[in-house]
Amino acid sequence: MIVRDKFFIDGKWVAPCSAEAIDVHNAGTGAVMGKVPAGGAKDIDAAVAAARAAFEGWSATPAAKRAEYLQKISDGLKARAAELGSVIAQEVGMPIKLAGRIQAGLPVANFLNYSRLLNNFKFEERIGNSLVVREPVGVVGAITPWNYPLHQIALKVAPALAAGCSVVLKPSEIAPFNAFILAEVIEAAGLPGGVFNLVTGFGPAAGEALVKHPQVDMISFTGSTRAGKRISELAAQTVKRVALELGGKSASVILEDADLAAAVKGTVNGCYLNSGQTCTALTRMLVPASKYEEAARLATEAAKAFVPGDPMSEATRLGPLSSQMQLDRVRGYIKKGIAEGAELLTGGAEQPEGLAGGNLAGGYFVKPTIFGKVKNSMTIAQEEIFGPVLSIIPYQDEGEAVRIANDSPYGLAGAVWSADEAHAQTVARRIRAGQVDVNGGAFNMNAPFGGFKQSGHGREAGVYGLEEFLEYKSLQLKG
Ligand code: NAD
Repeated sequence: MIVRDKFFIDGKWVAPCSAEAIDVHNAGTGAVMGKVPAGGAKDIDAAVAAARAAFEGWSATPAAKRAEYLQKISDGLKARAAELGSVIAQEVGMPIKLAGRIQAGLPVANFLNYSRLLNNFKFEERIGNSLVVREPVGVVGAITPWNYPLHQIALKVAPALAAGCSVVLKPSEIAPFNAFILAEVIEAAGLPGGVFNLVTGFGPAAGEALVKHPQVDMISFTGSTRAGKRISELAAQTVKRVALELGGKSASVILEDADLAAAVKGTVNGCYLNSGQTCTALTRMLVPASKYEEAARLATEAAKAFVPGDPMSEATRLGPLSSQMQLDRVRGYIKKGIAEGAELLTGGAEQPEGLAGGNLAGGYFVKPTIFGKVKNSMTIAQEEIFGPVLSIIPYQDEGEAVRIANDSPYGLAGAVWSADEAHAQTVARRIRAGQVDVNGGAFNMNAPFGGFKQSGHGREAGVYGLEEFLEYKSLQLKG
């Protein structure tokens, strides 16, 4: 059992105002693996007061010095990467090998990246008779989800600290232990007290208290569109800046001349990563009607490589979902897909075979599932499922493919596949989404990351992520 019973506030580990605790479950077994405190408004008040008091000193700390701290945090996370990978594999259920590389590796890289970016960033420029200076926005409230828990935290905390902001972090109550390790690393790095503060708790209690707090200047949120809308409403009362990274229903558009085998394999991999619990998951595969049968066969074949298993085993490619709630939700969508008339090509709503006995029996496992002949109007093609469920949608011509790709309330990501790279780019430009992979182009941590439409607004990563936490100020000069 991992028992965390203190918050990190003002550089110290302090007792919560109430004794209420939240059980954290191991995704692979369903067993309670530990507890964290359920913070409330008073805990948030203390954390915000500490952040407010620390802001002046931190914002005036030279950028090169802030960069040194970020480098130390990266080093500290690197030294604890194996522990982080293992904790997140248990909290989230991502297979340990991938969890080590992605869940622990990306935060190490992002803190280091912001340390480097900071050393080259120009905080001011001359425009005519004005000196335009860029100042930190102030106290930042960061609210994060469970699917890539420390990565989402790092994408906020690293650039906010780089910008000169102080931070109160409210991580996901479903996967919170990694955030405590980060707080320990930050403490060991010697960051001045109050610059980074950690309070755990439920969204409607601790999260909303942070959003409503008049001394918080900005909320940076990653999570569901539902919570993002609520946060926007609440933040409006104090006219806070809000950055929202929300859900997605991304289309992978396979064009007539594409290498079908590579495109289908790339799409299935992009859909099933982290058991489909990835905001950019390619969950709608658009194929020319003439290639439908072959694409369906290839996809079903590719799905066979994803055998659900123990996330703590090095050999596992598909772990469980993160929680009982997720399991019920994903199974519900699979049943809905069948009820609405989509063709179940593989998978289904039942418990996967081979996991009934032993300690994995209580884990949140679901079969990798593919639906064929899906209509884009069906629920499974419109709503974010957040599980390993792929919908194959046939189209007649390229114009229709683009229309279907854009016929979504979301606009987070997408993919285009074609033998003609220039043509693929033309189609990618027509897709209303924040990032579009062309022929399987790799994730780039310096490229802006964020959504169009109901996938949110604001951009994270690289220099774009740093700019989110800055205000412009114009000094009008006489001479
Ligand atoms: P969630 O919205 O349930 O919770 C996210 C965080 O918000 C948690 O810390 C939660 O406690 C808090 N929260 C919930 N309700 C709140 C409220 N009323 N006020 C303040 N805080 C509140 O989301 P989740 O289930 O943890 O994460 C999954 C979602 O996150 C998916 O929709 C996914 O697409 C999205 N996501 C988006 C990105 C992106 O960058 N666009 C990345 C990862 C995940």
